[in-house]
Amino acid sequence: MAIVMDGKKLSEKIRGSLKEKVAFYKEKYDRVPGIAVILVGNDPASTVYVNMKEKACLEAGYKSVVERIPESSSTEDLLRLVEKYNADNTIHGILVQLPLPKQIDEKRILYSIDPAKDVDGFHPYNVGLMHIGEDTLFPCTPYGVMKFFEEYNIDLTGKNAVVLGRSNIVGKPMSALLLKANATVTICHSRTKNLPEVCRTADILVAAIGKPNFVTKDFVKEGAVVIDVGINRLDGKLVGDVKYDEVEKLASHITPVPGGVGPMTITMLMYNTMKAFEKSIKINN
Ligand code: NDP
Repeated sequence: MAIVMDGKKLSEKIRGSLKEKVAFYKEKYDRVPGIAVILVGNDPASTVYVNMKEKACLEAGYKSVVERIPESSSTEDLLRLVEKYNADNTIHGILVQLPLPKQIDEKRILYSIDPAKDVDGFHPYNVGLMHIGEDTLFPCTPYGVMKFFEEYNIDLTGKNAVVLGRSNIVGKPMSALLLKANATVTICHSRTKNLPEVCRTADILVAAIGKPNFVTKDFVKEGAVVIDVGINRLDGKLVGDVKYDEVEKLASHITPVPGGVGPMTITMLMYNTMKAFEKSIKINN
């Protein structure tokens, strides 16, 4: 039976230490980390997510601003808002909630965020730094996965890591962070041949494809560490990309869905905002 890696517990631990840091900086400099979240329209899932982010940030003592603007907003409207927060020195992180309505030029918006405030880690400048092995603002979901390895003392050096999925928000940055941690990395996608066979070479298997219960025991080598990033709705329930009941019998460690990687994403957004804030404190003091 695998060790279940508890994302709720790890999240609470990290949020607790962020809260302590906020209190320290407030006392020492009378400044706190600030985050601005821009939400365009009323997409229910995005609204829930933005509310969760706001609540978590406020609980930790961050300054949190949420700009809710209409669905009909233009690229220029959004650019003006981003510029406003780029120039605001009480704001250290800017997040534009995706997806954006069709009429908005998503790339122009994301690329207009000051890379020093790009707490989603999607700006090409930060992506570039990550790929050349520098410390920067890393995308929250894969960064959260790296925290599991740290917490559960899983040494990645020389391990075979297989990442299922090559999206810009999960699969690709995941593979870059694993490589940075000295794993030998293979990236799989929808055109990969002999998928189960490739996955069975993994000491570390990260599933991020968005297909419920796709990763069965045939994909998993005994003793592998299995990280399930997938969040899928199946028959009214949340399930991952990994067929949990089967795989947990083989794996040495596994993340559940829900309660695994999911809770870590907002936590790492707060972590990145603290990182950006600390950098600005260093520069300004
Ligand atoms: P995308 O749809 O952007 O990417 C999916 C990737 O999986 C693509 O690279 C695709 O390949 C690959 N893929 C799809 N089907 C198969 C298949 N049958 N075999 C092999 N590869 C396949 O998804 P995201 O990366 O955005 O998200 C992945 C999952 O993670 C989703 O369930 C999402 O909800 C979840 N997620 C969870 C987060 C969290 O906080 N825990 C945050 C972000 C995402 P190709 O490139 O060839 O099309």
